[in-house]
Amino acid sequence: MTIVRDAHGMLCPKCGQDDCIDVAALVHVRLTGSGSDADLSFDGSHEWDDDSRCCCGACGHGGTVSDFRKAAEQQMVRELVDLFGEKGRPDDFLDGHVHDAKFAEASQINNGGVEDQIAYLIAVEGFEAVRQMIEEDEQ
Ligand SMILES: [Zn+2]
Repeated sequence: MTIVRDAHGMLCPKCGQDDCIDVAALVHVRLTGSGSDADLSFDGSHEWDDDSRCCCGACGHGGTVSDFRKAAEQQMVRELVDLFGEKGRPDDFLDGHVHDAKFAEASQINNGGVEDQIAYLIAVEGFEAVRQMIEEDEQ
């Protein structure tokens, strides 16, 4: 399952699941005689950010949203590096796309090699867009 990972860029750093992630969000609740009700609240929004507490319902691992995001980023980079690897020519891909300014920037990230280039592209374009670019390049 990568639905939540792809939508929110998060997965559990311990077990790798992404379908049981709970985030501690700030919500407004309406106080009532018998307790409180989030559905009655005028402000139905809920807020959370990188520092919000987060836990995995599948294995019980706890951390911050930021921890769960880093785990997803690492997995997505590995997936796309593997996809590159299958093509057998990781650096030619960037060379073939330097007409695009973002690829030109990525190709200048030379120190860390293809992992850093992929991580940069994911940050700029999003995982799905980069995956499609790699797959379309195969044809
Ligand atoms: Zn877990």
